[in-house]
Amino acid sequence: MRLWIVVVVSLLVAAGCAAPLSPADRPAQGDRPSKADRSTGTDRRHPGAGPGEAGAGWSSRPGGPLPVPPPVRRTDCRRVKCVALTFDDGPGPYTRPLLDVLARHRARATFFVLGRRVAGDGTGTVRRMVADGHELGNHSWDHPILSDLPKPGIRRQLRRTQLAVEHATGVRMALVRPPYGATGHRVAAESRRQGLAQVLWNVDTLDWRDRRASAVVRRATGIRPGAVVLLHDIHPSTVWAVPRLLRRLTTRGYTFVTLSEMYGGGRLRPGRRYYDAAGRWRGDGGRPKPVARWGHELQRFPRRGVPLLRGS
Ligand SMILES: [Zn+2]
Repeated sequence: MRLWIVVVVSLLVAAGCAAPLSPADRPAQGDRPSKADRSTGTDRRHPGAGPGEAGAGWSSRPGGPLPVPPPVRRTDCRRVKCVALTFDDGPGPYTRPLLDVLARHRARATFFVLGRRVAGDGTGTVRRMVADGHELGNHSWDHPILSDLPKPGIRRQLRRTQLAVEHATGVRMALVRPPYGATGHRVAAESRRQGLAQVLWNVDTLDWRDRRASAVVRRATGIRPGAVVLLHDIHPSTVWAVPRLLRRLTTRGYTFVTLSEMYGGGRLRPGRRYYDAAGRWRGDGGRPKPVARWGHELQRFPRRGVPLLRGS
């Protein structure tokens, strides 16, 4: 009798294993450990992943779990040579290869994203930025000249973008970079209301104009500690420039930090304008050098905004 029960149970178990799982039984793709998780043994609830372990806290599944940022780094940029690389206008088709390059160099950066592109990104690129330890900033919804808009328009541009990023990543941004660097009283007031510090730049690589990696490298490497470098991850020439740029600056002893890391992890004052950390350390608020004047980007986009990524 007992033998008979064992045989029946064995048959049932074998049948259960062979039968295809119903959709409800199948594990969601995002629940499986990623290749990186398996190879590093990383638990996504406790990622502990630096940017060198790309994607350990990240799932590519659209609509998957929110990304877990790596532990906060403590870098004293008053003692070590820091540079903040900033990439505007993405995410775009070249952003993911760029993230791979940054991860290989254990470099962190700040991405000023367009809300419209975040909302149209079905690849989880913005989530990976967070999981790799990069910082996100608000670059408006579709790249208008914010200072030309009435108050409600500015409010909508910034709020929609904040909501899109929050929805995709769970991150609430604390930084804004007005498109073209075009700011004014209304933009400052609305930034302050939405808890956003305005971060411009003090080194312009002009990568939007000169689509040559060598020119981008030359301009990005002619810097001083505390520099905020303007780049755009929507141009392939910029992404090609980044490995060389990182190698050169690493040789010169630079550490690549996010803007918040550069400013000591302290919250920047919402509404206020910042250009570079060195200027702030000097006590002049980081006033822009002539090269950092806004307006040069104006011809890049039609006034009605930017085209969406294909398929979005
Ligand atoms: Zn821009």
